Amino acid sequence: MMYRSTRGQAPLVDAGAALRAGVAPDGGLYMPQELPRFTAGDFSDTPDLPGLAARLLAPFFADSAIETALPSICADAFDFPCPRIPLAHTDNNASPGPDILELFHGPTGAFKDFGARFLFRAFAALGQTTDRLVTVLVATSGDTGGAVGCAAEGVAGTRAVILFPAGRISPFQEHQLCCWEPPVEAVRVSGDFDACQALVKAAFADPDLARRHNLTSANSISIGRFLPQMTYWARAALDVTAETGTPPGLIIPTGNLGNAFAAVLARACGVPIGPIVLATNANATLSDWHASGQYEGRPSIATLANAMDVGTPSNFERLADLPPGQIETVIRVNDDAIKARLRATFDQSAYIACPHTATALETFHTLDTDQRQARRWIIGATAHPSKFADTVEPVIGQTVALPPALEAVLEREARCREMGVALPELAGVLAR
Ligand SMILES: *Cc1c(COP(=O)(O)O)cnc(C)c1O
Repeated sequence: MMYRSTRGQAPLVDAGAALRAGVAPDGGLYMPQELPRFTAGDFSDTPDLPGLAARLLAPFFADSAIETALPSICADAFDFPCPRIPLAHTDNNASPGPDILELFHGPTGAFKDFGARFLFRAFAALGQTTDRLVTVLVATSGDTGGAVGCAAEGVAGTRAVILFPAGRISPFQEHQLCCWEPPVEAVRVSGDFDACQALVKAAFADPDLARRHNLTSANSISIGRFLPQMTYWARAALDVTAETGTPPGLIIPTGNLGNAFAAVLARACGVPIGPIVLATNANATLSDWHASGQYEGRPSIATLANAMDVGTPSNFERLADLPPGQIETVIRVNDDAIKARLRATFDQSAYIACPHTATALETFHTLDTDQRQARRWIIGATAHPSKFADTVEPVIGQTVALPPALEAVLEREARCREMGVALPELAGVLAR
């Protein structure tokens, strides 16, 4: 499989080179040159997630340095469950609820564990064939860094350097960045998130630094993150189609469009998926685009579903690269509606959702009755509610216990390095 740039001005590359580069040299995003076509029968002998992942992803990594390692990468990356739970209503006469696809049973309690774990194992496979150690440099304001640090721990051939803004993230988030063993380095920067991002950009733009350390990124535009995310949508869609005879609809809490684009791509490859509906928070870029056909990025605004506080979704360019009509609906959910839905879901179903998942639950309730009854709907549950206890606990009036994986994170020792906002300081950190 070769990859082309969405802007069409860059040479074709294989999956290894696309992974290594992140962004194409013309500034575009890499897209598979042609899409494989699957039918449900192709997956009849792959009941487990790693097996399905290896089958689904094989064409995307064909003829690359990752091809032979793919089954073991998948086995290693997808070693936690992703249960689909029917949302029961305590009132038996209520119309049937959606299924909740819990994507947060990985080691850092968010769906980003899937992509991050796959990505680092893919980097390690690349490193083995090229003999070049890569340094993954990321700036993070929260959840991504935790998943990246965890995914990188103990992986040979890679190093992860995670910059975060001092005093701007929650104590739990900081702990989740600073608790990983080598080759992970957390760096507390005396500046804000924009300063951290500017440092990362400056490091990539410095040819000497970039070459010396083989700098690469792990952000959500990486093919190594969104491709593996097709797996759980495919698993759930195949299962529901087998059960009900109708492809399910998906409702996906959306920020940078990485998770939703994975679902779009899976459907384009023949996975039986019905309508794809995006749930966003108050950030209106995608809902305005869907309503008017005009795309206009803008600064983000802060909401309770803060992992979705995105004003210029970085994967939009990929969506725009496909034929129109890939997204059936976009629903915007403000903070009051997030809280009300969290509360109603708890009262009616005794289910505790995170604020991001609540945007999707609210979106389900905006569909009309015909749409809801025409098929099964699947809600993507993107984070464990305990990660957002500050928001969730006052709304439902009870505490939310940490799951064992997150307890284990808290029991680890945390350490980090400190630096200011000048590039030479970052060069010093990278050199050691
Ligand atoms: C990252 C994130 C999202 C948004 O996912 P995208 O792929 O950026 O659209 C939603 N919920 C949670 C909890 C996240 O961490």
